[in-house]
Amino acid sequence: MSILKRPQIAGQLYFVFISLMGCLIFVFMHRGEFLHYTPSQWVWVYAMLGAAMILNYFTFQLPPEGNLQSMDSSIYLACIFIYGAPFALTIILFNTVAMALYDRKIPVWKHFVNFSIYTLMIAGSALIFQAAGGITGPMVNDKFGAYLAALLVYFLINVFLIGFYYYLLYRGSLYDILKNFMKDTLLVYLSTLILSLVLSVLIVHNGIFGLALFIGLSVMLSYSFKQLFSMYNEAQEKAIKDQRTGLYNHSYFESLLDAEIKKATASNTALSLAMIDIDDFKKYNDQFGHLKGDMLLGFLGSFLKKECKVAEVVASRFGGEEFTILMPGYDEKHAGLFINRLRKKLNDTYFDGVEIFPSGCLSFSAGVATYQVDIHDKSQFVDLADQALYYAKKQGKNIVHVYGSASKKESEIDFTEDVRDIEQQLKLFLYKDVDTFKHSKRVFRYAMDMSEVLGLTNTERRNFVLGALIHDIGKLEIPWGILNKKDKLTPAEWETVKRHVSWGKRIAETNDRFKELVPFIELHHERYDGHGYPHGFKGKQIPKLCRMLTIIDSFDAMTTERPYQKTKTFEEGIAELRLCAGTQFDPELVELFIAYIEQRSLERQEPAAGAEV
Ligand code: GH3
Ligand code: MG
Ligand code: MG
Repeated sequence: MSILKRPQIAGQLYFVFISLMGCLIFVFMHRGEFLHYTPSQWVWVYAMLGAAMILNYFTFQLPPEGNLQSMDSSIYLACIFIYGAPFALTIILFNTVAMALYDRKIPVWKHFVNFSIYTLMIAGSALIFQAAGGITGPMVNDKFGAYLAALLVYFLINVFLIGFYYYLLYRGSLYDILKNFMKDTLLVYLSTLILSLVLSVLIVHNGIFGLALFIGLSVMLSYSFKQLFSMYNEAQEKAIKDQRTGLYNHSYFESLLDAEIKKATASNTALSLAMIDIDDFKKYNDQFGHLKGDMLLGFLGSFLKKECKVAEVVASRFGGEEFTILMPGYDEKHAGLFINRLRKKLNDTYFDGVEIFPSGCLSFSAGVATYQVDIHDKSQFVDLADQALYYAKKQGKNIVHVYGSASKKESEIDFTEDVRDIEQQLKLFLYKDVDTFKHSKRVFRYAMDMSEVLGLTNTERRNFVLGALIHDIGKLEIPWGILNKKDKLTPAEWETVKRHVSWGKRIAETNDRFKELVPFIELHHERYDGHGYPHGFKGKQIPKLCRMLTIIDSFDAMTTERPYQKTKTFEEGIAELRLCAGTQFDPELVELFIAYIEQRSLERQEPAAGAEV
């Protein structure tokens, strides 16, 4: 009964109108009926009044929002059906007086408006009941239509009176407001009708005992519903929380992000997102073990939760040692300032063992992005924050970087620098094995094109193309004689060549910036059917982009000049890819690559022949 919260001028006028209508109708319909009640009728007034008050207290709490639904309407409807409208009005009058005396925190005018709304509902319902041929007294089976009509009108008046109030308050579409209201309350009102009919039968046949049975059952049901709702809440809480950190989990973050983007777009307000990654967390794990690492994550979770609650922003665990902070209403300046304050505060917060971190304290790097209209979906938004985070790491860690605040685009800066660095290292091939150098550059270009075809995110694209460029770096370790041998290799020499993937892995691991490229180096000789090396991984065990690299790598090897192997034309290369699809190569990716090669040949309008260098 507490829907009346923020009356404004229009709302106040509306309430005055409803109150006047309610009073008029009350006086007109009731006509002081209780002045003529017999003592036994008074007993029923008290009984029904008590029942209404009990049902008003023992409500039903419904998931998901936890709306409290009171079933006291079943009492008023039963009163209409058995004794007629004036009796029901007597009960609502006394109920209102009792509630006003009992609950003095609620202003009297609110009790009065509630009374008027109930009066209108009872009056409308009773009139329809009569008009549809309903007869007060014991239930008549073939008058079910009249009972149904009475309930329907009772329900519609309720929805309309309250819905219209919300419309005056918040505007928007009246139709939508009414529709949502109906959706929320329809089931409750249907149950109310059934309950009111059950109550009528019980009262007519068993008098006060019937009423007591009804109340007992309702109280127990209300109790069970409350228990169920608290269990639902607990389960809900578990489903959306990350157990280790106590923050929201990844999937809840995604749904929240969806909702906040919609809200920000509709209300044209700012929305910022920070992607946070603990600096050098692996070192802490390596030094103290995973369990201690877990405790540090838990500690950081509590820290973020506390700080974010004060700032009215939401922290989630994105995965591993990465966190997100979603900041509704924060533009990039405020978001950057807030995350930076958070970073400094964390630096000054002690946790056991933080001395081993290179900065001597707990620290994170963060990327901040602000939502803009040209961001078309949430993953792109996350990607921008991720790129900014990447940039912050590159700048030396323990830094907050706001996307777009650098002179060039974040992804491009890192990218070209990395390409240059890897090329420098590859140039060593120039004197040792010029073919491998040229091959790496061609594979790199294919990978650039395939990134477009595959629609990769910036981070995936960076890793894929750099991985393609560096994939053969381990060949530097292969002795000169084997690398440039014109004859067929002996089995022992083959074993040496095969080891280039492990050597390459070790070379890349020495540089923090190239850690993500390791799979491309290590796994580009795995085969789809599991007969490759070094691990014999099969199908989806091999990351998708590594499977793609294997195809590109092999295609380029077939179609360019190599020792002891005949060069294939593009058509022959394509045929060979198809032949080995499903055994050596991922068949779906093979078709994607072939489609791209054919399209490229068409566009260049050149006869398919040898790849460019
Ligand atoms: P950087 O500063 O570049 O972020 O370095 P880093 O060591 O933090 O990052 P990297 O990505 O190399 O390593 C992340 C580490 O986080 C590796 C992994 O063992 C650890 N980690 C991820 N999830 C958990 C977890 O739930 N518990 C523990 N103890 N460690 C985790
Ligand atoms: Mg990480
Ligand atoms: Mg980290």
